[in-house]
Amino acid sequence: IRDELDTNNFLEIETPLLTNPTPEGSRSYLVPSRTSQGSFYALPQSPQQYKQLLMAGGFERYFQFAKCMRDEDTRGDRQPEFTQLDLEMSFVNREDVMRLNEELLIAIVKELFPEKRIQQVPFPVLTYKEAMEKYGNDKPDIREDKNDPNLLAFCWVVDFPFFEKTGEDNVDETGEWTFTHNPFSKPKDENMSDLMDKKNVGDILTTQYDVALNGYEIGGGSIRNHNTQALRTVFEVMGYSAERIEKNFGHMLKALASGTPPHGGIAWGLDRLMMILLNEPNIREVIAFPKTGEGKDLLMQAPAPTSDKNLRELGIEIKK
Ligand code: ASP
Repeated sequence: IRDELDTNNFLEIETPLLTNPTPEGSRSYLVPSRTSQGSFYALPQSPQQYKQLLMAGGFERYFQFAKCMRDEDTRGDRQPEFTQLDLEMSFVNREDVMRLNEELLIAIVKELFPEKRIQQVPFPVLTYKEAMEKYGNDKPDIREDKNDPNLLAFCWVVDFPFFEKTGEDNVDETGEWTFTHNPFSKPKDENMSDLMDKKNVGDILTTQYDVALNGYEIGGGSIRNHNTQALRTVFEVMGYSAERIEKNFGHMLKALASGTPPHGGIAWGLDRLMMILLNEPNIREVIAFPKTGEGKDLLMQAPAPTSDKNLRELGIEIKK
């Protein structure tokens, strides 16, 4: 992957792990600060804001193998701590990003998994509506022969709804609507005026593209909304107050208003992709020192209570 992206003029850049929460549809892990007692860092659910800020800074093509942390229930194909191949590009449209990623996936399979056969190239592209109607989910398993362990059926899914009604389990959002994938995505051009008028909210489509493989979502991304008024409107539709928008996203709005080029990107769930390529039944099989279903590291015995001294330094009292 490094060789391919290097050839395509990408720069590998690491971004911080101690940061502030970005909404990615999950809970963040928090890290208490000793020097600012009562304040917390969040561990990144993804480098989304940083990679867009890199585009604002003129880097044009970025990637990294990013550690992402999401405090959600563990499943067979999901760990609280996982690795993304994360990338972002300036001056691109949806097809440019999809093409580059498709070529990269094909190159990986050809070089490292020559025994595997890709069912269809170019990868078929389904709309969300088609996927739901035909397969009943948005990461369809389109394999012609589900018993063939060497068959890889990639497909793209596009034209997702931008917003959905806020669910009861959504701890953070107060409004009637929340984003389906990524609040920083650009709506499709033909839906931009509805967004600006906050009209037909449920019908607005996003430029989001997901890539699915054998019934798993292995990646997703979008063209970003670099129009600050439109991005502000997204947060307003989600019921955020002007103060909250300024406090949480003021820096993004400022950066985007400073002449940021149009940009877009994607992230792959790298462990999940490896699980499928290696025909493993569980993501734990491709991660060194994975966590249990309850998010525990049994070997290191994490998480664990800490000493009274540590708690005092952090200004934290534990309710017994
Ligand atoms: N940050 C997104 C995610 O983690 C991916 C992207 O839009 O690039 O799902």
